[in-house]
Amino acid sequence: MKRGFLNKMTKKEQSPSSDPTGSPDPSTASAEKTSKGKEEAPEERTETVINLLYGNVEDPPALFESAAKVYNPNLFKVVIKSPDPEDNPEDVLLITNIPPRREDVPPDPQGHSEWIVRASTKPKVINHPGFPQALRIINGPPAYEIKETPDTMVGGGVFATRDIKAGKLIFTERPLIVAPRYIDLPDPQSFQDLEPYTRERLLQLLMMRKFELLLKLAMDRMDEEDQNAFLALRNCHKEDGSGPLLGILRTNGFGINKLYDGEERTDRKLYTGVTRIGSRINHNCTPNVIYKFSLPSFSFQFCAITDIQAGEQLFFSFCVTDQSKAERHAELAPYGIICNCRVCEHATPETDKLRKEYQRRTRQYIAKVQQWTVMVIDDSPGSSRNVLNEERLEPILVLRDALREERLQYTDEYRAILWNVHLFYKKLGMGVKANAFLEEFSALNRGSSRQ
Ligand SMILES: [Zn+2]
Repeated sequence: MKRGFLNKMTKKEQSPSSDPTGSPDPSTASAEKTSKGKEEAPEERTETVINLLYGNVEDPPALFESAAKVYNPNLFKVVIKSPDPEDNPEDVLLITNIPPRREDVPPDPQGHSEWIVRASTKPKVINHPGFPQALRIINGPPAYEIKETPDTMVGGGVFATRDIKAGKLIFTERPLIVAPRYIDLPDPQSFQDLEPYTRERLLQLLMMRKFELLLKLAMDRMDEEDQNAFLALRNCHKEDGSGPLLGILRTNGFGINKLYDGEERTDRKLYTGVTRIGSRINHNCTPNVIYKFSLPSFSFQFCAITDIQAGEQLFFSFCVTDQSKAERHAELAPYGIICNCRVCEHATPETDKLRKEYQRRTRQYIAKVQQWTVMVIDDSPGSSRNVLNEERLEPILVLRDALREERLQYTDEYRAILWNVHLFYKKLGMGVKANAFLEEFSALNRGSSRQ
């Protein structure tokens, strides 16, 4: 499961009206603020890939001002906009509270999130069946605590305060802030005056500034306690041109797969959320926690996917499972993480190959096992056809062992192997072995629900 922020951004054609090109005014006291574009978009668009930078990036102080001037002076112009639903064109960016917060009603004790959202996307939550729903109450003292870790690179982490069974909900929380992962900028007419800086570099700069401005507006609306919680989070984007707030968003955001602009879900249309507790969970290629997002309660839910013992640190993986060590490390680099987990330490060309291939191999093996499981056994005397025995399972059991060694028991593929092997043993009448696989499947399946 991925962590949050889109560090590689792809910019594609948009209709000219779809770009939010103005910015809201921090001085307005209205409950909801709107930014609205005023400029004429360029007629011709080309596809631009904008990769936000990380690491130490030299950024001449005057470059932003020059780029903004050449690009479009209106881009960062403040536009005051009163909240009027009738007057919210679909592509306008709003900064709002969710659940809605009203002046005449006490705030929700479970909190409100600041939400930077396209006007057309907001109804997806407001009109979602069950919205607004309260967060699930977890009885007893918290099963987690935040404390320092021995790893000075990451500082703090989240630890279990008691034994937690796979599948259990550990905690749930509303995000402090939710924002788009990507903000469209119309392509510039020309940056020729600013050579030798590339067009991509200048667009990066503008996008990051625009993000920072929007985040600042959202921050200014938060309670002081929430502001402090947000500002206390780690920022590993201090030298790449990200502003302080964007740096925190990039470091700590969780992707929300259920929440995206438009009809079609793509990476750059997703939203990302930063939370008070969950954002402090560190990465490990062998996670023990996953998260889900509930639209009706607008909250993250963090669940155990393995049994966790009291005192253990909670981890989830910022990377997908089918990446080699080098790919995982490249993905983690923008977060300032150098993973030294057991799986990374023991990585070999063979384990990389296993990760790249295990999904395809599992599908192939399972298709065979399923065929055998429904096969009619011809046991007439002298027949050698359709002989079914447990030796047929050998390749899939070898794969099962390799996945276990690679600590991939939490994957759907591993559970699918257990389930199908159990069915095959059952067909063979080997109840004890069938039950052993079923038991392992059931234990893992308790922790399997995912976003
Ligand atoms: Zn690792």
